[in-house]
Amino acid sequence: MDTKHQYIIPFTGLSEGNHEFTFYIDKVFFLLFPESELHDAQVEIQVYLTKAPETLNLDIDLKGSVEVECDRCLDLFNHEIEFHAKLNVEFGDENSDISEADENIILSRKEIDLDLSRHFFDYINISLPIRRIHPKNQNGKSTCNKEMIKKLKELSVKKIDSEPDTRWDNLKPLMN
Ligand SMILES: [Zn+2]
Repeated sequence: MDTKHQYIIPFTGLSEGNHEFTFYIDKVFFLLFPESELHDAQVEIQVYLTKAPETLNLDIDLKGSVEVECDRCLDLFNHEIEFHAKLNVEFGDENSDISEADENIILSRKEIDLDLSRHFFDYINISLPIRRIHPKNQNGKSTCNKEMIKKLKELSVKKIDSEPDTRWDNLKPLMN
């Protein structure tokens, strides 16, 4: 993997103080995560890092778009995302288990760099809404694939509503 697709910060070589890094996420990034439901994106990530003797504090901004499947028409489209995260790193004797909700991580003193790829992957997934639908155009009209929606409607079984609702029958005499 070429350096363009490395998501690491070699912090041991950094002086104390502020540093800025830019990372790009595209198709190749997702090859690192074979389990991913997402496969393509154009996201720029700015990392503002403050290095102190015992800690690293990172402010992370993500902006761009991620290719997702529309929940309504099943076509792929680029969903805009914008996300901000903070990550605080302390140094300890061993690496701690890092879960996706953690904003504080402990890194072994033996480590020389910080791999952010898993964090970036989590941020992208968190930043997407659960329900993903084509955005509306300037006229407020849906940009979904109309042909596809028509087909999906034809395929879906029509709800049978000939059965009368009998749940209130026992109450009817009381109402009269
Ligand atoms: Zn759609």
